[in-house]
Amino acid sequence: MYDDLSVESFMSGLKKRNPDEVEFHQAVHEVAQSVVPYILDNPKYQEAGILQRMTEPDRSIIFRVVWEDDAGNIRVNRGYRVQFNNAIGPYKGGLRLHPSVNLSILKFLGFEQTFKNSLTTLPMGAGKGGSDFDPKGKSDREVMRFCQSFMTELVHHIGPHTDVPAGDIGVGAREISYMFGQYKRLSTRFDGALTGKAMEFGGSLIRKEATGYGNAYFMQEMLSHHDEGLEGKTCVISGAGNVALYCAQKLMQLGAKVITLSDSGGFVLDPAGIDEEKLEWLLDLKTRRRGRLSEYAENYGLEFFPDRKPWRVPCDLAFPCATQNELGAGDALALVENGCKAVSEGANMPTTLEAIKVFRDAEILYGPGKAANAGGVAVSGLEMTQNSIRLTWTAEETEERLRDIMKKIHRQCIQHGAEPSGYMNYVKGANIAGFIKVADAMLAYGVG
Ligand code: NDP
Repeated sequence: MYDDLSVESFMSGLKKRNPDEVEFHQAVHEVAQSVVPYILDNPKYQEAGILQRMTEPDRSIIFRVVWEDDAGNIRVNRGYRVQFNNAIGPYKGGLRLHPSVNLSILKFLGFEQTFKNSLTTLPMGAGKGGSDFDPKGKSDREVMRFCQSFMTELVHHIGPHTDVPAGDIGVGAREISYMFGQYKRLSTRFDGALTGKAMEFGGSLIRKEATGYGNAYFMQEMLSHHDEGLEGKTCVISGAGNVALYCAQKLMQLGAKVITLSDSGGFVLDPAGIDEEKLEWLLDLKTRRRGRLSEYAENYGLEFFPDRKPWRVPCDLAFPCATQNELGAGDALALVENGCKAVSEGANMPTTLEAIKVFRDAEILYGPGKAANAGGVAVSGLEMTQNSIRLTWTAEETEERLRDIMKKIHRQCIQHGAEPSGYMNYVKGANIAGFIKVADAMLAYGVG
């Protein structure tokens, strides 16, 4: 039945079944390029139609979210939870609140999550959800009413043994708290059905820092495997949210210099490098005052480039930490020409397929998000463990575990990623290593 499996035939079938879902096509295409040759060498996966099964979510739940704004108007948004694959554990993955959210974006994120969660070595399946609600410019009360309404439906689909959502774009401590409060009220249970909770009610130390810290650690691993280090390296980061800011913090702590950050308004250039005091100011701006990056530039007398991305700024290392497809082929060429040696993705799928090819052709180190940003979901997994055993680990203990997990992820990538030329292809390594664990579980369960 699958005798003629090739990347092209597989993608043609997938596109026919999922028309117009361009982000989902892109994410699957990236994986198929690595995994199809592996499947052809291992016919047991082909015979069981594993890739076909892995690209179809277990279920997609779509629901209406009605809430009232401060002026008394009734507002309607669309809510989603895509439960992608629970072969190796309960569905696990973030919730995104952003006007661009649609089924294609959540399917790409849920699919990526399958491989990422597998790489963490923890028992977590994959899911992703969210809404086209835009928290920007809304009052705290409006965000609260939206989150409560969203959870009024979501509560039927989640739980510590079924599906455990967390944060993503537009969902931080405030939103998780409102959602957990509503979950607790409606279910009458206090359990670990969400991660990213505050410390007062079952959260984990280092969770909010974990994705950014993990990304810096992944870069450190890639460099040290190639006899290099972070010390003294000039780094360009995009984004100014949870992932970008904590990635900047860890890079600084490890001796590198961070010279850019960005948001949807543009990027800021700080040639002297961001320091702890500026970072504290930024964290307060972004998480409490909910301001714009241009205010940061103004406050410190730095140059701000409206509507521009930071990829043309010469650097040693680049960290895309904002959103999908924010780094195209032209940007990749500029990075390579300006001497960039390595790229590590904090965001999910920030690099287009064409840009990935530029990095591969230039043989620069490229850590894909599913490996490099897995630290966030890994510490979510550790939060689930702490909730189950009703204990809280110290920050040092949790960060040590995070560090160890990032090392294990790197090890799995290099186990499967070496090219005959000697180039370490982290995309191939992450895809094959992530695939094997989930595929073997699915094979063990039989057809179903
Ligand atoms: P936040 O909401 O905290 O921050 C997002 C940042 O990216 C903001 O600076 C935002 O700018 C910018 N951004 C978002 N959308 C766009 C856009 N369309 N164009 C330009 N800039 C944009 O989100 P996170 O930091 O949590 O997430 C960032 C990325 O990391 C996402 O790809 C997410 O999926 C991924 N990720 C997050 C994890 C987590 O633990 N939070 C875990 C693993 C991956 P503005 O404020 O102007 O919109």
